[in-house]
This record gives sequence, structure tokens and C-alpha cells, in this order.
Amino acid sequence: MDSRNAHQILIVEDERPIRRFLKVSLENQGYRVVESATGAEALRAAASLPPDLVILDLGLPDLDGQDVLRQLRDWYSGPVIVLSARDQEAQKILALDGGADDYLTKPFGSGELSARIRTAMRHACRQVPQEPMLRTGELAVDLASRVVTCGDRQVHLTPLEYKLLVTLMKNAGKVLTHRQLLNEVWGPHHTLENHYLRVFVASLRRKLEADPARPRYLITEQGIGYRFAAE
Ligand code: CA
Repeated sequence: MDSRNAHQILIVEDERPIRRFLKVSLENQGYRVVESATGAEALRAAASLPPDLVILDLGLPDLDGQDVLRQLRDWYSGPVIVLSARDQEAQKILALDGGADDYLTKPFGSGELSARIRTAMRHACRQVPQEPMLRTGELAVDLASRVVTCGDRQVHLTPLEYKLLVTLMKNAGKVLTHRQLLNEVWGPHHTLENHYLRVFVASLRRKLEADPARPRYLITEQGIGYRFAAE
């Protein structure tokens, strides 16, 4: 196979012997391999590639593998296969609920590995690849590093402000109801707390809008919800 056309796989695993085994097995099958030994390195590598598939160990030295998965899933729609130890049933379930496509239990053989990868790749062919950036006008959100910029100014948002902004931007042009937004950002037990939205939208406007009284991005749909203005 011409290696330039080969699928690229990102391996995230801190244990060198397992990483080595994965690299050799995958390269023998014609895949290109990029390795990361930490979660932070993996998130950076994923954003700059992005890879065709990620193999993610859940036990990493710096970040919890579940957090790496969650941050990756903010923008990455390609297949993710998690690696876990035999006694980590709850971890596997959490990872599958968190957007992993499949899991491999250590120890595993190269036959099982390649079968799981083929299956995951087959399912992924139907998906549209995503870019780790959301952009409208002057406003840009880097979903991989979670950095928000307005023009050349970096904007500091709280985690909930960030989540609200990303939810609105991902649905740019569509009206999201109060209930939808509360459910998405605060969770199913807070869907009646409209005042949360008033407070957080006001705060986002102060941070992002040139004139918070005449918002260009964060539009109120009276009595319904909010809409992020698409340009
Ligand atoms: Ca590990």
C-alpha cells in the first residue's frame, strides 16, 4: 500500500511495551502510526493531524483517559477505541457512553486488534470529518485547546460559559429553546431554571460582543430561547 494514502492511527498509551506492540502490529497492516504517551500530548496531536482513528488507553499519567475522550469528542467524530484492563467493566461502560466506539481488553492479540479497527473504520466512513475550530466573524473557538478568541484578543470563559457558547455555535442559525439549552449545559434536572440562561448569556455578551446591548452573535428569541447568528 502507498503509505501516503494509508489511514493514520493515533495511539495514546503510556506503557512503552504496549505502545510498541500496537505500532508494530498496525504498521505491518499498512497503517501509519502516531504515538502519544500522555493525554495532553494526545490532544495536541489529534488536533494537528487529525487522525483517521484513535486508540486510547484509559489509564494515563497526566489526564484521566475519560477526560481525554470527552475533550476529543467536543470536535472529533472519527472512531475511538479504548484500551482497558480486565477488571475495569465500569470504565468501559463509561467510555462507551462518553463516545468511544469500541474497547479492547488487555491483553489482546493483533488479530482482535485489526478486526476491531476494520469494523470501526467501516462505521466511520459514513461520517463527515470535523475541524477542531468554530468560527463566525471575529469570534473563533478552538475546540481542541478550548481557547476562545475575539479578533486577536483571547477571551477567558468559565467552563459553563464555554459549554453554552459552544452549544449555541454548533447550532448556529438555529433557535435553541430555553429547555434545550438548560438540558444540554446544566443537565436534565435544571430545565426550568431560565434565570441561569439570562445570567450566563449576559455575561457572554459582556465578554464577546462589541456592544452587549445590541448583540451581533448571541440573539434573544423572545419567549423561546436563543440563537447564535450565522454569518
Ligand atoms: Ca496505561
